[in-house]
Amino acid sequence: MDFEFTEEQKMIADSARDIAKDFPPEYWREKEENGEFGEEFWKALSKAGFTGIVIPEEYGGAGMGMTELLIAMEELAANGCGMAGVWYLVLTEVFGGMSIVRHGTEEQKEKYLPGIAKGELEFCMALTEPDAGTNTLNTRTTAVKDGDEWVINGNKIFISGADRAKGMLIIARTTPREKAPKKTHGISLFLADLPNPAVKVNPIPKHGINYSKTCEVSISNLRLPEDALMPPLDGGWYSLLDTLNPERMSFTTAAVGIGKLAISKAVEYTKQRKVFAGEPVGSYQGLQFPLAEAYATLETARLMNFKASTLFDNQASYRDVGTYANMAKLVAVEAGVKAVYWAMQSFGGYGYAKEYDVERWWREVNLIRLAPVTQQMALAYVGEHILGMPKSYRT
Ligand SMILES: Cc1cc2nc3c(=O)[nH]c(=O)nc-3n(C[C@H](O)[C@H](O)[C@H](O)COP(=O)(O)OP(=O)(O)OC[C@H]3O[C@@H](n4cnc5c(N)ncnc54)[C@H](O)[C@@H]3O)c2cc1C
Repeated sequence: MDFEFTEEQKMIADSARDIAKDFPPEYWREKEENGEFGEEFWKALSKAGFTGIVIPEEYGGAGMGMTELLIAMEELAANGCGMAGVWYLVLTEVFGGMSIVRHGTEEQKEKYLPGIAKGELEFCMALTEPDAGTNTLNTRTTAVKDGDEWVINGNKIFISGADRAKGMLIIARTTPREKAPKKTHGISLFLADLPNPAVKVNPIPKHGINYSKTCEVSISNLRLPEDALMPPLDGGWYSLLDTLNPERMSFTTAAVGIGKLAISKAVEYTKQRKVFAGEPVGSYQGLQFPLAEAYATLETARLMNFKASTLFDNQASYRDVGTYANMAKLVAVEAGVKAVYWAMQSFGGYGYAKEYDVERWWREVNLIRLAPVTQQMALAYVGEHILGMPKSYRT
């Protein structure tokens, strides 16, 4: 067991810290207020090769793994970018890059991976549906073969980045649920090029993270070539787990990064803020202990998350990876929420003012309780799959 980063990993962390310096909280405050994509940030990530961390070298990437991607994300988030340090990389490099690296055909790899590595081909993933929600096996979107084409129809909800993505990973049913020999059978993955008139995208006004749009997507008779299917036909559920587990790890890293960022700002502020005679407010244990506890818990979650990413990079089973990815996310989110809550408390009334950014991080960190998987479903995973307890619901 070795807890040291390699020299290469340390370089990634250094380089992420350097990038974060150029995109401080004020930059994101403005992007959030204006609802603008961080173009300059995305260009900086692409230039530094961060958009290609998990892409194999033969397709223009760095040929590294999830562990290195998480290192980059954490440093970006914790050093000023907050959720933005994770968000854009998840959409393109995890939903597009990682899914294709693990399960794409050679033609799909040649078509998409070089553009993803260069940051020129943004991606999104269309999984969630209005009627299926957490129960993703209830996906109603269908893909039906017509000659040598696939015809896709369905409605998706909360699809982040769909307004600007050039590629979309679509999760659809190729065998109706009633005809499938088991519930996980009949789900297939497709790669679609956007924009396409058959795909209507409508942004949903939302609570935070407004430097990226999250959209309703309606797909009506979208015709895709035969080779848009990411194999295997009907067996996409298990391939999808190789995207959903990295997504989970990325959002755990977001909780850790945002939590650490908020704590560092609270520490800075409370060291100099005096309201009564004598010591600054940071000396009061009523503020110090919860911040210290949140920090310790974030570090614990971070270690477990690196265990998940190491297992993933070593091609462990999706079940083993999922075990640690779910537990890390459970712990990280509670600690991240606690960290930002106490950072806001530490700032007193200023914590509520936009100028100090804590209220924005509060909006960002709370998303991770709901997405990519809710805390309840992460608990259900631990209860059922790890502890072997009976399932309370039917999919
Ligand atoms: C800002 C944002 C961005 C998103 N981006 C994307 C994206 O890019 N692509 C994409 O595909 N999806 C995306 N999502 C969707 C997200 O993954 C889902 O919202 C999330 O998985 C929860 O699904 P739901 O909203 O349908 O909740 P529901 O499934 O309706 O759940 C409602 C509540 O019931 C609880 N619940 C449900 N079943 C159980 C059970 N068996 N036991 C206990 N409690 C239960 C849940 O925990 C939750 O609290 C995004 C969502 C948001 C808010």
